[in-house]
Amino acid sequence: MYECEICGKKADTVYRIMIDSAEMLVCRSCASGKKVLQELSESKPAQATREKKRADSADEVIADYGGEIRKARERMNIPINVLAEMLNEKESTLHRVESGKMLPSIGLTAKLEKELGIKLTSKADEKANAEMHGKEEPITLGDAAVQKKKENGR
Ligand SMILES: [Zn+2]
Repeated sequence: MYECEICGKKADTVYRIMIDSAEMLVCRSCASGKKVLQELSESKPAQATREKKRADSADEVIADYGGEIRKARERMNIPINVLAEMLNEKESTLHRVESGKMLPSIGLTAKLEKELGIKLTSKADEKANAEMHGKEEPITLGDAAVQKKKENGR
């Protein structure tokens, strides 16, 4: 909830306007007729962005896929050539994947996950969550600026 800096009314949406070269966050009625620099709303636009992201981005292979594969393989005591046979892949391919020189294909990733019982992909969902945290920053900064302005006004 925002508070209008002119009339003190609480509002979900406030407008950043310029009055005598000072920026103020005000309610809709106080903003009418003024030049609005920015509209700040508490209805979460990030939610929509997140849903869109989830819909059109696939799972992504984790950064340390090679290390995870090697650790799992060693834990299960499977030599790399045996694993290659199990997966019907070239041993050299697995070497390159394990050393992080080659990103496994979607098919190989799925086979590795199944055979080794590990997770090599991170959901796009988690990534979107991380990005959402990043998006909260400007609101915090905005609030801090408002606080500062209020203190200066005293
Ligand atoms: Zn107002």
